[in-house]
Amino acid sequence: MNLDRELLKVLLRLGRPLILSLILSLFSSAAIVAQARFLSHIIDRVFLGGAALSIVMPTLLLYLASAVLRATTFWGGRSAAAHIAARVKNDIRSKLTTHLWQLGPGYVNTEQTGELKNTITAGVDALDAYISDYLPQLVLAALIPLLILLFVFPVDVLSGFVFLVTAPLIPLFMILIGDVAQTLTKKQWTVLSRMNAFFLDVLQGLTMLKILGRSREYAEKIRQVTQEFRHTTIKVLRVAFLSALVLELLATISTALIAVEIGLRLLYSRMSFEQALFILILAPEFYQPLRQLGARFHAGMEGFTAAKRIFEILSAKPGISFGSKKTPVNITSIHFQSVYYSYPHSEKEALADIDLYIEQGQKVAIVGPSGAGKSTLISLLLRFIDPTSGRLCVNGQTLQEFDINFWRRALSWLPQRPFIFHDTVLENVRLAKENADTAEIERALERAQAKEFVDDLPNGLDTLIGERGARLSGGQAQRIALARAFLKDAPLFVFDEATAHLDAKTEARIQTSLDILAADRTVIAVAHRLYTVQTADVIFVLNNGTLVGSGRHDELLLHNGVYRRLVEAQEIQP
Ligand code: ADP
Repeated sequence: MNLDRELLKVLLRLGRPLILSLILSLFSSAAIVAQARFLSHIIDRVFLGGAALSIVMPTLLLYLASAVLRATTFWGGRSAAAHIAARVKNDIRSKLTTHLWQLGPGYVNTEQTGELKNTITAGVDALDAYISDYLPQLVLAALIPLLILLFVFPVDVLSGFVFLVTAPLIPLFMILIGDVAQTLTKKQWTVLSRMNAFFLDVLQGLTMLKILGRSREYAEKIRQVTQEFRHTTIKVLRVAFLSALVLELLATISTALIAVEIGLRLLYSRMSFEQALFILILAPEFYQPLRQLGARFHAGMEGFTAAKRIFEILSAKPGISFGSKKTPVNITSIHFQSVYYSYPHSEKEALADIDLYIEQGQKVAIVGPSGAGKSTLISLLLRFIDPTSGRLCVNGQTLQEFDINFWRRALSWLPQRPFIFHDTVLENVRLAKENADTAEIERALERAQAKEFVDDLPNGLDTLIGERGARLSGGQAQRIALARAFLKDAPLFVFDEATAHLDAKTEARIQTSLDILAADRTVIAVAHRLYTVQTADVIFVLNNGTLVGSGRHDELLLHNGVYRRLVEAQEIQP
């Protein structure tokens, strides 16, 4: 992936504001030259020629006009750049989220959440500085000196020559430090992302750390990470300040060189005063954009590093492939045909040679010791990942041929710890069906045995419930998620039974809801309870990534050692 080309593509798509910003930069550069020309003329006439105000009035007005033009074009250029940056930011942020959406949990689970969050928030903001500050300055740094040279050469070749020789020193120096700055900025970015990821981990696992009595150690780790961040930031700043100092020095020495060279010639009357003044006024203007480019170089570097990561995510290909076929309304069969799956960067197969057949309306339980491959099997079914080899067929057709959205609409999924968003109960349930009205949602809550506790909440359906359902107990969150499944009313229901101990009353309620939900659809459950396996039409026993048996509870108990051990070891709890 070529980053410059990718960025250019994003910018070119902006069209009009970009052209406007370039035209304004051009006008702004022209206004600088015009201002110098008029000012040197006025000073020459008034101080040396003793001209009256009325004589220089037209030039004075022209000078004022060019000053106004310079100010307005500068302001316009900055607004256009800010406008472009805002659009690019919006565009990239929405692209990133849509792309991550498409990449799905298969990709997101392999990345650190904190790092991704950092890229979407701070990364995109850093891109803003790159686009609204650095890039316009880059254009100005190329345009203004060029235009000034064009006017200086006809007036005075020697000064033009000094400009020509000294100007490239600044970009040359920037290129020289570029590599060091980029490496440091990249390191700073990596440490920042790591710190973000670490903070998120610690926040999410705070309860666990407290219980394990490890919070002190983690506080020490936080101190270390922040120290490391401080060190890298100081290093970056050191380079930034040092380079700014050198750039200022270069610009000042070059301006002084021009001043001396002009002053001497003026002394020996080799040059007219007006010409000398014109060039002297232009000299700082000549180096100004280059100096400012140096100052914005650091912000640019940060944006560039962030852009790299952003385009890396954008160019990541989804780990799954999908076609455009609509999923049939009736799922008559699901067939795993010699399915193998190994996780990226893992040599061991998580699933090997899985062959299983599920018919419409069947209640299926999947059991196995921890690490047997149950979640991987469900991830394949939910299409978070694709089989490494083998086929997963629905109604005799490969699942990859179906439109993924249609497929996901055909199933409901209830994980062990359902995610409850920071929103009202109503909206949390409505997620399952966009246009559901309140009556439908209430009905779903009722069927999920959740209506009673929702009514007891301070604002009923409109009560805000917290991130990860902080205000709800495990059993209540399960029932909200069940209400989603009732509302969605999909023909296939997949669920992972909660292993956390729920009180007998809650468990019985959830079981009642599950029974109602299961009644008229195909159900696939990762089973941890005896009740589910006893009532299942067929149980698939997984061990070490392979299918070691299938059948009903009684048969398996008699003939399948793994299954018997599971029941005996109470991994399936009676
Ligand atoms: P179960 O759900 O039965 O406990 P999993 O499907 O989670 O088992 O895991 C099956 C195997 O795949 C295990 O050996 C596990 O270590 C491995 N595994 C699970 N997730 C990943 C992952 N993201 N990367 C690498 N290996 C994984």
